Amino acid sequence: MHSDLKEIAESFGSPLYVYDEKVIKENYYGFKDSFPDLAVKVFYACKALSNISILKLFNSYGASLDCVSIQEVKLGLKAGFDPRDILFTPNCISESEYEEAIDLGVIINVDNLPTLEYLGMKYPGISLWVRINPHLMAGGNRNISVGHIDSKFGISIHQLPLLKRLIQKLGINVEGIHTHTGSDIIDPDIFIRAAELIFDVVKEFETVKFIDFGSGFKVRYKEGDAETNLEVFGRKFSKVFLEFCKEQDKDYQLCFEPGKFLVSNSGSFVSKVNLVKQTTSCVFVGIDSGFNHFIRPMFYDAYHQIENLSNPEGEKKVYTVVGYICETDTFAQDRFITEVRKGDLLCFKNAGAYCFSMASNYNSRLKPAEVLVKDGKAQLIRRRESLEDLLATQMELTS
Ligand SMILES: *Cc1c(COP(=O)(O)O)cnc(C)c1O
Repeated sequence: MHSDLKEIAESFGSPLYVYDEKVIKENYYGFKDSFPDLAVKVFYACKALSNISILKLFNSYGASLDCVSIQEVKLGLKAGFDPRDILFTPNCISESEYEEAIDLGVIINVDNLPTLEYLGMKYPGISLWVRINPHLMAGGNRNISVGHIDSKFGISIHQLPLLKRLIQKLGINVEGIHTHTGSDIIDPDIFIRAAELIFDVVKEFETVKFIDFGSGFKVRYKEGDAETNLEVFGRKFSKVFLEFCKEQDKDYQLCFEPGKFLVSNSGSFVSKVNLVKQTTSCVFVGIDSGFNHFIRPMFYDAYHQIENLSNPEGEKKVYTVVGYICETDTFAQDRFITEVRKGDLLCFKNAGAYCFSMASNYNSRLKPAEVLVKDGKAQLIRRRESLEDLLATQMELTS
């Protein structure tokens, strides 16, 4: 898709997000196929990339959807998902937002006891999923641990006795047990230890049909990065899961909620070089974008590979790539890139997840366009914003 990228950016303009449907499809089916002898239910975590055309792709593959806000739920419904294939996994929202989701008929995943109590009283016999925080610290290293004791998410596994009491008293039908810790799973064994804790919770509720292990699958951003070996993980995890089903004499439905894993490497962000500026300490490359469009490098210190689409064969030099926002917005420091000239198009790789979906209008800048390449055809799936869009919600004082 390389030479195409340059052409696409030339025809749709810059800055631009471009996604490759083929990659998304391969990621989705590759994920499903990693769990031998199990039909895994995949809830695509749509906060990663929530364009309605992307949601429609996942619906066409037969995926389900994981949503963290009522707006994502409504987008999912608009994209054609059956309400029973939409899992609503919010945190710290108002009771009225839960009520709206219940009215829309989607699956409700509750992550705190006060809400559980409220919903149980208001809707006698309601079916719910429950989000558990297993607090498993692995090796004391935050990077590989799967749940922190100080995390705001989920109902603590230590509150299980209270949870059971409430469920029983309120007559709640617990259909699913859920956990999502947000950590990077590199070592499958650590995750399997978390699963064993969750199985102990599942055993406490006869009504459970779904066991959802959330996500946390790590992708590779650069050469030498560790990533989740899904084949190894899937094989080991399937075995443990099937053993649990056998032991309980029950066919539980295994669920996961990957976001990043499904879309990250499908996306590229293309931006044009406005300026090459040598200072006393380095050579800055200033591009027609900033953290308003692409915040991961500044927000998470994330590494995104950069290629010069306009000069792929050029001599490699060291550059510091920065944005045009009036704050320090450094995309990459001291990076080898083939010689950069004014007007060149730079491509940031792995820009499918948490890139456009985290874009803002800071500095009153307009959000970029999005293009999806499908069956060899590049199609606009979001037009570039205009000044009218920026003003659409603003009101001028009348007196
Ligand atoms: C964000 C999120 C995910 C997806 O996480 P990734 O790291 O993108 O795979 C899954 N489940 C829930 C509840 C989330 O909040």
